[in-house]
Amino acid sequence: MSSTIWSVDDHLADILDAVKPLEPIELQLADAQGCVLVEDVVVRIALPPFDNSSMDGYAVRVADVTGASEEFPSVLTVLGDVAAGNDGLPGGGVVGPGQAARIMTGAPLPKGAEAVVPVEWTDGGTGEGPATTMRAHRDAPEGASGEVRVYRAATAGAHVRASGSDVKPGDLALAAGSVVGPPQVGLLAAIGRATVKVRPRPRVVVVSTGSELVQPGEELAGGQIYDSNSYALTAAARDAGALSYRVGAVTDDAETLRATIEDQLIRADLVVTTGGVSVGAYDVVKEALSSVGDEDEPGSGIDFRTLAMQPGKPQGFGSIGAEHIPLMALPGNPVSAYVSFELFVRPAIRRLMGLEEVHRPTVRAALTTSEALSSPAGKRQFLRGSYDEVSGTVVPVGGSGSHLIAALARADALIVVPEDVTSVEPGTETEVVLLR
Ligand code: AMP
Ligand code: MG
Repeated sequence: MSSTIWSVDDHLADILDAVKPLEPIELQLADAQGCVLVEDVVVRIALPPFDNSSMDGYAVRVADVTGASEEFPSVLTVLGDVAAGNDGLPGGGVVGPGQAARIMTGAPLPKGAEAVVPVEWTDGGTGEGPATTMRAHRDAPEGASGEVRVYRAATAGAHVRASGSDVKPGDLALAAGSVVGPPQVGLLAAIGRATVKVRPRPRVVVVSTGSELVQPGEELAGGQIYDSNSYALTAAARDAGALSYRVGAVTDDAETLRATIEDQLIRADLVVTTGGVSVGAYDVVKEALSSVGDEDEPGSGIDFRTLAMQPGKPQGFGSIGAEHIPLMALPGNPVSAYVSFELFVRPAIRRLMGLEEVHRPTVRAALTTSEALSSPAGKRQFLRGSYDEVSGTVVPVGGSGSHLIAALARADALIVVPEDVTSVEPGTETEVVLLR
């Protein structure tokens, strides 16, 4: 236990200094969502791979429709259909002078054609004036070809999506460091990539401690409360981008806790515990974590600290086991645990992921209160608040009590009161950490 009091910034810097991005792995595309790319992805094919129609209509030669109007339509012989998935006209047919091919959206422009006339600018092959649908030429008798009346001219390339107009072979699709979000997954799939090299999602194991804890769904006996921390922090870890595993509550017994954590190390890139880090008689986390996975090295790598912060004064941080898995021991009060998670664990998870930006966004907002807020001297206080973007104001939600779970659930921001400020007047501009 360090005797010095740590500032929030120093504790955070110590964590971010110690936690390194995970080693990259090759992941299936569907599993790479939310991960950071570690390779430059270069396109091997053109997108679109071939010239294709952006409309349902008729593939034509420009000269054949020059000057076409409703009064003087161009009448063209329809050779047949080109549907999406066809490789041009049947039998490699070519659209010659006076000819057209019926074409569907996404179908390749057949040989000889230079433009597409949307069906709305034709009679759709019906001989009955402007059309909104097309007559099915594929139903026409063998060898017979219908006619289409075209009412407007088209320039070369009209309604044609040119090959390579999106990307060309050799183009950089995504640079290393990009986050694979849904549109990036789409791009990777579109260029045919089945796997990508990324940093994996960190596996975060959440263990709550406390003999008073009961799992939701069970009956509460006297003196018992429901274990909310393991649920909240498992959810928060997932929200931060991790694969999170909720172990649930372990009783206040050092040996049980030690064995539980040791069992979990196999699937952990980060272990988070809650409770048992203050100075009470049953605060077993300190006792248990002095030798996890490292029997010959007592007093191993977890440092239990006092932080100049409220809530969240007691914190433990270090690494455990032969693999030196980082472990963060958070205080047990639900608000303290959650605020500690937001301030310290979330950035650590994002560092493990290899993200550049590990912090929540902050803004400055005017405090809306009826009376001045008081804050302890020498501590950075994090009050729960509700932020209004339109007016640029933030209103405190609930009080400073670190047991106020309902207020936390109504908050979407943390109001930061600096160490040297003991009173904040209504209307004062304050720093606000946005939680959503
Ligand atoms: P501790 O840090 O273990 O002394 O716990 C501080 C306070 O937080 C006590 O009132 C505990 O009952 C409460 N607490 C600890 N762990 C949890 C948990 N997982 N869920 C809800 N409350 C908890
Ligand atoms: Mg406890």
